Amino acid sequence: MKINEFAELKGKVALITGGAGVLGGGMAGILAQYGVIAGIMDLTIEGAEAAVDVIKKNGGVAFAVKANVLNKEELIQARDIIIEKYGKLDILINAAGGNMPGATIGPDQAIYDMQLPHLQKVLDLNIIGTILPSQVFSEVFAKQKSGIVINISSASAQRPLSRVVGYSASKAAIDNFTKWLAVELAGKYGDGIRVNAIAPGFFIGEQNRALLLTPDGDLTPRGEKIIEHTPMGRFGVPEDLDGALMFLCSNMSTFVTGTVLNIDGGFAATSI
Ligand code: NAD
Repeated sequence: MKINEFAELKGKVALITGGAGVLGGGMAGILAQYGVIAGIMDLTIEGAEAAVDVIKKNGGVAFAVKANVLNKEELIQARDIIIEKYGKLDILINAAGGNMPGATIGPDQAIYDMQLPHLQKVLDLNIIGTILPSQVFSEVFAKQKSGIVINISSASAQRPLSRVVGYSASKAAIDNFTKWLAVELAGKYGDGIRVNAIAPGFFIGEQNRALLLTPDGDLTPRGEKIIEHTPMGRFGVPEDLDGALMFLCSNMSTFVTGTVLNIDGGFAATSI
């Protein structure tokens, strides 16, 4: 094997859903550093453009596109824009997702307090919001007979976290879908298409900040529990995902498909 400088990634086109977010933006940023043209897709064009500006300031090439991952027409429009401009798509990262405040069962509540509309929203965002972009954009991969899908799972997929039932169930569904899609695409279109997932542990993002940190930046009781259960004793930072991402996007992983890679400081490995 040659020393890998990821040179093969230069000029590839990636689309990152939820690319204006903390983890999606970080992943777009590292790919751009290696010469990947980073497409930032998010709910608002302003959010996507702000993330593009950061990449450009760091010398990367990026473009913004607005689409809701739950709206197939908007996704198809985004696909048309990308194909018209670049003629191809090489990497899809499904990073749009997360929990929602209404879908969290409060400390003094039980499953009986759960409101179906909130549950439905979080299930839709995470699993339909992964399946639908995969359907729309992997059609390009099927035609090219090449492409990479990376889904974003969570530590709560394998062993569900208390209080976030919809989030945990939908992330478990993402693990399952990752395997399903890997088999579907490799079986029908060959070994040029790979589908894998990254399962981050606990990273401070906009959605979980209030659950994990007090306004003063101290740990909440839940934050404390999580750190106690993380052998490495800290939250992750977006750069902790870089190695896994580069591995899965590059020729370092040509025979890897249908896997879920934990990036969690050992959270999934420990029981007490
Ligand atoms: P974030 O809130 O910073 O980013 C999510 C982004 O997705 C936001 O920019 C948001 O606008 C966008 N988005 C939301 N709904 C959308 C929709 N319908 N269509 C298009 N875009 C939409 O969150 P993050 O912490 O960066 O999380 C990114 C992914 O990583 C999520 O799937 C999350 O579940 C997962 N994850 C995060 C953590 C963590 O600790 N932060 C841990 C495990 C998994």
